[in-house]
Amino acid sequence: MPDAAFDYDYLIAGGGAAGLSLAYYLVQEPRLRDKRILLLEPEAKDQNDRTWSFWTEKPTPFDGIAVREWRQLAFRSPGFEQIFPLSRYRYQTIRGIDFYRFVHAVLAAAPQVTVVRASVESLENTSGGVTARTGAGSFAARYAFDSRPPKLTQRPDKYRYLLQHFIGWEVETEQDAFDPATVEFMDFRGAQHHEARFIYVLPFAPRRALVEYTLFSGRLLPDEAYEAALRDYLTNTLGLTSYRIVEREQGAIPMTDHPLPLRDGAHIINLGTRAGRAKPSTGYAFQRIQQHSEHLVNALASTGKPPRRLTTDQPQFRLFDTLLLDIMQRRGETTRDIFTELFQRNPLERMLDFLDEKTSWRENFLILNSVTSAPFLRSIRHVLRGRPGVR
Ligand SMILES: Cc1cc2nc3c(=O)[nH]c(=O)nc-3n(C[C@H](O)[C@H](O)[C@H](O)COP(=O)(O)OP(=O)(O)OC[C@H]3O[C@@H](n4cnc5c(N)ncnc54)[C@H](O)[C@@H]3O)c2cc1C
Repeated sequence: MPDAAFDYDYLIAGGGAAGLSLAYYLVQEPRLRDKRILLLEPEAKDQNDRTWSFWTEKPTPFDGIAVREWRQLAFRSPGFEQIFPLSRYRYQTIRGIDFYRFVHAVLAAAPQVTVVRASVESLENTSGGVTARTGAGSFAARYAFDSRPPKLTQRPDKYRYLLQHFIGWEVETEQDAFDPATVEFMDFRGAQHHEARFIYVLPFAPRRALVEYTLFSGRLLPDEAYEAALRDYLTNTLGLTSYRIVEREQGAIPMTDHPLPLRDGAHIINLGTRAGRAKPSTGYAFQRIQQHSEHLVNALASTGKPPRRLTTDQPQFRLFDTLLLDIMQRRGETTRDIFTELFQRNPLERMLDFLDEKTSWRENFLILNSVTSAPFLRSIRHVLRGRPGVR
């Protein structure tokens, strides 16, 4: 039954990946059909502001809007190059604009959902619920789900702060240049400049691909530096003499072990990047956001409350993330060697399971045992001392 004491049962602050995913799963759940949902988002969400890619082994609600999916990934570094079949996984890409339109169409057909174009200025726990103050007035709800970007006061003496940052060009070429069957997952053959730097390619067709120059590091580069690396790859690695840039993507995703709270008081649950759903050691977030949404909605449907454990995260994987971040921050160029060993010495599926945090202790041991131990041992020392390593 809806709660008569409040205007809404569930209020969602922010309608990006996490807010819209939660709204989608809420309206799909028959046991929550009578719950009144309010979505507050200041933007029209009518731009293709990002592209999400991820691997998955089961069908997703968004299979129908995927622009493409692949069954092979390539890994390249000096001295080791291999194309890996994905076996039980698929690698899929969804354009932001398709996702926003798809979910908004589902929400528009759901009478229990109200969407208001407004920016949330504050969210406060009240007795038994929550109040949101916005440019469009105040709203009261039983629970709020907050996906506004987090505001972090950095503690570099305690935690590690890196970014996965990139510029990508979607290019069209006059001759065949890309293998549309294979995602270039990480191409580390370029100069590393004491950081982790690689090229990532999503080939949509033999003459069309998204090519990104990506770094895991602490500081952004001037745009020209990413663009010079993209030009170098297209000209010198692919041998192209002419190409047309049809779209451009730029991003910086936080990679940090700074704890991000999963809730702010009794009735405010955090979502998305705000709730640490971007995996600290890779920046991948889309699938983790889907899992989080499903986990929350299952509990709301079966108990009427958010789950006691708000995520299914396990501490051993947080430790692995911290160790990798420590190595990347301390000796970024080592990242290439670690990834090379990981890809050379493990089945790809084990690696993807590990990054999905689904591996057993035995598999975790096999993975850790497959890489040179010295950088990890040094970082374990830093973790035990409670201080990040420095270069
Ligand atoms: C360019 C780019 C590419 C990415 N690619 C991938 C990828 O390939 N794979 C992957 O797994 N992850 C990727 N990510 C990481 C992650 O999946 C995305 O950042 C994802 O959008 C995070 O979801 P979110 O809901 O936390 O944030 P967002 O999607 O950014 O949504 C936050 C929403 O909050 C709204 N908002 C802001 N302030 C307020 C306010 N005061 N009140 C109400 N609403 C507010 C914003 O307008 C926005 O709509 C990418 C990120 C970027 C930036």
